[in-house]
Amino acid sequence: MVVQNYRLTLPSDQDTSGRTLGAEEIQLLAQAIGSGTLTSTKGTFVKQLERDFADLIGVKYAYACASGSAAVHTAIAAIDPEPGDEIITTSITDMGALTPILYQTAIPVFADVDPRTWNVTAETIEKCISDRTKAIVVTHLFGNPCEMAEIMALADARGIPVIEDSAQGFLATHNGQAMGGIGTIGCFSLQQGKHITTGEGGIVTTNDEAFARRMFLFVNKAFGYGDPKPDHYFIAPNYRMCELQGAVAVAQLSKLKDIVARRQASARKLTEQLQGIAGIETPWQDPRNTHVYWKYCLSVDAQFIHEGAIGLAKRLKEDFGIFSAPRYIQKPAFQCEVIQNQRTFGNSRFPFNLARPEAVDYSPEKFPGTFAGLERVLVLPWNEAYTDEHIDYIARAIKTAIAQLSSQS
Ligand SMILES: *Cc1c(COP(=O)(O)O)cnc(C)c1O
Repeated sequence: MVVQNYRLTLPSDQDTSGRTLGAEEIQLLAQAIGSGTLTSTKGTFVKQLERDFADLIGVKYAYACASGSAAVHTAIAAIDPEPGDEIITTSITDMGALTPILYQTAIPVFADVDPRTWNVTAETIEKCISDRTKAIVVTHLFGNPCEMAEIMALADARGIPVIEDSAQGFLATHNGQAMGGIGTIGCFSLQQGKHITTGEGGIVTTNDEAFARRMFLFVNKAFGYGDPKPDHYFIAPNYRMCELQGAVAVAQLSKLKDIVARRQASARKLTEQLQGIAGIETPWQDPRNTHVYWKYCLSVDAQFIHEGAIGLAKRLKEDFGIFSAPRYIQKPAFQCEVIQNQRTFGNSRFPFNLARPEAVDYSPEKFPGTFAGLERVLVLPWNEAYTDEHIDYIARAIKTAIAQLSSQS
């Protein structure tokens, strides 16, 4: 007998149902338009965003830019690697965090991840360090901070700057300190699906005056606005955010603490409801961290659950209309064509042609955590509009699906 399950549509971060865009954004946007000044070089909203954001994260400098990818690009450009220098990064991340390394002519060297958190660790990073290492990029995946104390100890001992990709980690903390304010440079994204959004947008943060100067210049075609004899000092794009986005971002930022608190409260409720189910693990938490739940990820064991994360995702979709993402980015970043086939500038393969062979060796045995982590991860959609009813629905869907799938395995 087929039982028709009761269906509930979850709020989505792709439209108004799961976003906090409203009257406050419209009011500031109208002010920006009314002012007639839409460039941030003359307007007030982007400047206000930069001040407010620096205060919130607890850093001296913040600069808005065009996207999270632009933020990472700005961070790498501030580090200013020589062609062929190495930048350690993670094998599970958004491609927008990787191509900037190549644009700045450096080699991305992939560190393995802890399969419990899908994050790089001091141990996996250390294995990648060479005398050509110019920087380390750590990504606080899904909103769960990396082990920053250990990573900073490792990096500081060697004088290597650390870039925190906090695109998914707004207001997440480690030992009480906010992500993006612990490393040398922090990067954030305001893309549609992030905690707060302007459609597209990004922010970079730092406490270092010299890096701050280069970051400001890189976003602005390296033109020395305000200098006695301003010039275009080095190669740099126009990555500026405009005032329209700035106005929306100022309003969004005022809602961020509440957004994070609501995501955490609903995550806590789901975790409670999913205790003691064989075959799944709820998000692992370092007691020094607060997780801000960009997404809520389950770790699914195919020994207990028929077809593992993929099987569970299929049941959730077909029986309950819940669209989750097994395997997250599907494959490790180093298996994407751009990296695997070294598709960069013309047929030059530059800068890969300058790489040490070990730096571009992507043998699977070097990445046990990455492969195990991707095999097990099930990314549930998540946002601040979830109510108790949504959480109960998700919990019931998962329990029902698992009851079916464990009897099959
Ligand atoms: C979203 C994201 C980016 C890229 O940000 P865009 O605004 O989409 O360019 C980079 N890194 C991580 C970890 C992200 O989640």
